Amino acid sequence: MAREDWGLDLMQRHRRLFTINADEPFRSFGYPFCGRGWRDLVDRLCGRIEGVLRDGETFEFVQIKQKIGVLRAVWDGDASEDTETKIGHAVNLAVARSACTCEICGREGRLFNNRGWLETRCAEDAVGETVPPRYGAGFENVRRFRRWRGHADMYFATYDRETDTLTEVLPPSPKQEG
Ligand SMILES: [Zn+2]
Repeated sequence: MAREDWGLDLMQRHRRLFTINADEPFRSFGYPFCGRGWRDLVDRLCGRIEGVLRDGETFEFVQIKQKIGVLRAVWDGDASEDTETKIGHAVNLAVARSACTCEICGREGRLFNNRGWLETRCAEDAVGETVPPRYGAGFENVRRFRRWRGHADMYFATYDRETDTLTEVLPPSPKQEG
């Protein structure tokens, strides 16, 4: 069967980041279990990580998947604190982008509730109802991020899809009622 496997293709283009199971590629650690609409943002994530890894540093994806509507990327490796910080930022950028990118087609999207399944979709591919932004109107692209891998330190940032950048913001205050 000549069915295209974009996940395998992506892993092959970023060989330093994956250990590919040749017999059953989808069983490889890090094989992307998400829709094709996120291919570009995962590809960009891989490129960024390759760009910051130095000689002697190791990196391997353990898991890449869609979870509760957004990208989840787990990795393992041995790198300097500086490199790990940059990798963490690249992952945060990809997660933020997934939260506003249709997992089916890659166009701009938002979170929908499809009978209990949370999915990021454009209006055309969406099934179900829109989910209100967690932090209320005006905070659509604000998320909470982990600053360093394995550390509890969290921060809030707003994501700009046009420029693909995160800008740290103050924690959103509880919604004012009335
Ligand atoms: Zn779509």
